[in-house]
Amino acid sequence: MELEVDGIEQAVSTGALPGWERVDHLVGSAYERYRSRTAGAVADYIPALARVDPDLFGVAVADVGGRVHTIGAAGHDFSIQSISKAFVYALVCDALGHTVVADRVGVDNTGFGFNSVIAIELNNGHPMNPMVNAGALATTALVPGETPAAQWEYIRTGVSRFAGRFLELDGDVYQSEMLTNQRNKAIARLLESYGRITIDPLDVVDVYTRQCSLLVNARDLAIMGATLADGGVNPISGQQVVSPHVCQDTLSVLAAAGMYQRSGEWLYEIGLPAKSGVAGGIVAVAPGKGAIGTFSPRLDEAGNSVRGQRATAYLSRTLGLNVFASAATTRHLPQP
Ligand code: GLN
Repeated sequence: MELEVDGIEQAVSTGALPGWERVDHLVGSAYERYRSRTAGAVADYIPALARVDPDLFGVAVADVGGRVHTIGAAGHDFSIQSISKAFVYALVCDALGHTVVADRVGVDNTGFGFNSVIAIELNNGHPMNPMVNAGALATTALVPGETPAAQWEYIRTGVSRFAGRFLELDGDVYQSEMLTNQRNKAIARLLESYGRITIDPLDVVDVYTRQCSLLVNARDLAIMGATLADGGVNPISGQQVVSPHVCQDTLSVLAAAGMYQRSGEWLYEIGLPAKSGVAGGIVAVAPGKGAIGTFSPRLDEAGNSVRGQRATAYLSRTLGLNVFASAATTRHLPQP
């Protein structure tokens, strides 16, 4: 990811987002700056995703006080895809606790693509982290519920609480992926062979494919991210969705693995825990402050939205969100 840092002034965190007008202005500039970029390609391994208008572009920022700034196609619904992994992980952590999920699923980057089989083999069947397909399938298998239908209901209700509205399923995307997801079925069977999935693996793939087909927009992503930034309280509904500790766990996993094999580079350039999905969404979270949601369907080779990455980089830099950025405090400066 080549980031254009030149010309973008680096602001440093003040503990809160700048004022309303400044954020509004910067969201507008992020949009204008990148709206005409056409680099990247729409995902087509799920046929229904290839039918999207590739020029759609939306940006949203939500803060923990419930203010939301949007521009462009921020209200356009698209399937959440891999971004669901972050929120289902949070729900499972909340239900089962920190240690169970860390042991069963792991928290380390694989260094391989999101649907890697080699990564599973190289790690003796350990799925490594919940943000790649292997770990996400292992996580979905742990969702509370006696039947696949009950597990799906648990996920749909829980992810909807993050968004603060009832999320619909995109039936076309779900059907399309179910006809073409032989690889995910293979991964689930492989995990079963290693004892990492102990219920019917094809049921797990079905529930996982449904969770990936939930419809969200960039505005929802910003609010869902702001909930993780706000100790688990949705800043619009005021509802406690998960515990503060679960937010911390989820954000640390996102930092390590949310952008797949590009997670290190992303952290180095942008400095925020984030998650992307192949329909073109990205959510990036600034703990204690808020979150950025973007939507733009053209992806790079790792499956991350090209314009979404750039707009997020711009906003992280100008809003002073990079969690690693600091400036020397005056108390260390030589006294006159
Ligand atoms: N449903 C998609 C899959 O499993 C999600 C992948 C993604 O968004 N990277 O292939």
